[in-house]
Amino acid sequence: MLKSKTRQADWRRANMVKYNAHLAVQQALNSGTLDKQPCEVCGRTVVDAHHDHYDQPLNVRWLCRRHHVKLHQGGEDMFPIRRR
Ligand SMILES: [Zn+2]
Ligand SMILES: [Zn+2]
Repeated sequence: MLKSKTRQADWRRANMVKYNAHLAVQQALNSGTLDKQPCEVCGRTVVDAHHDHYDQPLNVRWLCRRHHVKLHQGGEDMFPIRRR
């Protein structure tokens, strides 16, 4: 009982962090702080923000839905982070 409670709290915390990160991206997009970029793999312009680190909410990578799903299925190392 204690265990499942802790797990639920962990789950909620993890999801709050994700939720807050996505919210921060939306707000930054709306305010012009952040610009959408084409998919870093194929260049499509319909993109999702992907977080490598949810504790850095505005440090995102832009991926189209297909490559975003693929990245999550293949693991984070599938598309190495491009050096800028
Ligand atoms: Zn793509
Ligand atoms: Zn992602």
